[in-house]
Amino acid sequence: MSQSPGRLVIVSGPSGAGKTSVLKRVFETCTRPLVHSVSATTRSPRPGEVSGRDYWFLSREEFAAKREAGEFLECCEVYGRGDWYGTLLSEVTPRIAAGKWVVLEIDVQGTLKVLDRFPEALTIFIQPESVAELERRLTARGTEKPDVVARRVDVGREEMRQADRYQHRVINREFDRAVRDVCDILERDA
Ligand code: 5GP
Repeated sequence: MSQSPGRLVIVSGPSGAGKTSVLKRVFETCTRPLVHSVSATTRSPRPGEVSGRDYWFLSREEFAAKREAGEFLECCEVYGRGDWYGTLLSEVTPRIAAGKWVVLEIDVQGTLKVLDRFPEALTIFIQPESVAELERRLTARGTEKPDVVARRVDVGREEMRQADRYQHRVINREFDRAVRDVCDILERDA
């Protein structure tokens, strides 16, 4: 029996756009064989985050060693503060070969690097309706200090300017609608 081909799906959007919650529900409802690529990061875990599920939380030394060993499909320093994030090849290639739809939740600069190697990847940008709404959500989350929120708003504004580099754009105005929009994109795509 021939196996359906796997796919690489890239989802981006400003931190605080609600993309993690939207994706969580998409994983529960979409009929595609979705698997999450767990990124590696040097940032500290937030309360409730678990290594191996939310991220692989690595020390700077561990991250640098993997980078030098060529274990990343892409990696970048995000927010100009020395926190590194990256997609491990081991999260991606074996699963695509096994017919899975591997979902990468990464930033815009990471996306451009992945597209160099996988130009056929399906790309989706999830964003709030405005920069003001992004700021409101990040402040309400209460997990970051005001200076970190301010920097994330600046990065978010910059990322929203680049949304047209993605094949699909979903505005997260209403949660259920955004989930449906993302599922429709995945299920429609051959
Ligand atoms: P957070 O710290 O809020 O979990 O994520 C911060 C940002 O890092 C988000 O915009 C997210 O898309 C990005 N990010 C998470 N994982 C990766 C990754 O593996 N590669 C890249 N380039 N960005 C990532």
